[in-house]
Amino acid sequence: DNSDAGSSSQIGQRNDIKRVIAVISGKGGVGKSTVSSLLASALLAHGYKVGLLDADITGPSIPRVFGVSGGSMGKNDYGIIPRRSRKGLKIMSLNLFLADEELPVIWRGPRIGGAVKEFYSQVDWGTLDFLILDMPPGTGDIAITVLQSIELDAAVVVSTPQDLAFTIVRKALHMLNKHEVPVLGVVENLTSGICPHCQHEVELFSGGGIRQWCEEKQVNYLGSIPWDAALSYCADRGQIDNYYPEAVGQMVAAFLAALPA
Ligand code: ADP
Repeated sequence: DNSDAGSSSQIGQRNDIKRVIAVISGKGGVGKSTVSSLLASALLAHGYKVGLLDADITGPSIPRVFGVSGGSMGKNDYGIIPRRSRKGLKIMSLNLFLADEELPVIWRGPRIGGAVKEFYSQVDWGTLDFLILDMPPGTGDIAITVLQSIELDAAVVVSTPQDLAFTIVRKALHMLNKHEVPVLGVVENLTSGICPHCQHEVELFSGGGIRQWCEEKQVNYLGSIPWDAALSYCADRGQIDNYYPEAVGQMVAAFLAALPA
């Protein structure tokens, strides 16, 4: 509850964030923001207190898929009040500020890493079991700056079957290892789809080497999310949290099992 602000200014002080989990990808468009949103929603459905920090400043879509709008952001003595989704997910995104004409001074021209640091420390997250960080795409400078700006507990890598594990996933894992971020595992997105006409399952990409690669390298394979028109339908209507098929249930179960005690 954000209404019980203290009397003196204590920005960020009551934040008790148990785990910060980054969701990263080797490149854009593989479903990183989608997996971040599905993971956050599924953890919330499991009864955890969850925040979702949208650091994908190149294509911020998180507020939209949860049906949360921009406009002026409230503040209390503990910091900026995050948006709440219908189901109670706390959401913060630079996009929310871009819709606000009266940008607070702290957001003026910061480096992206600095902006994310502020998202982390100047927001009244309160108590969270998980803060899911939707990272900027790729393994370039921006992603690395963000990795360095917050102390991460672990990371999840998102890939499509086409991003051959040997190249892009390996690059992402290399970046995480270099920054000493434990890797929880890999989620494979867009593995297959059901043809709406004949109901047959079709593989969208050739490949399929990721699961095997994970086995060989002893990296957790956290599951696969098929292409599903119902997912984009929910996302486009701001109701991604209503999308909870078996694949998402399996992913969150594997995620929880992979967490260090
Ligand atoms: P990224 O964050 O990696 O750039 P997004 O999560 O924004 O990628 O996904 C790109 C687009 O593909 C979005 O419009 C999203 O709704 C759609 N999409 C991603 N994964 C799926 C899926 N499994 N089924 C259907 N649509 C998907």
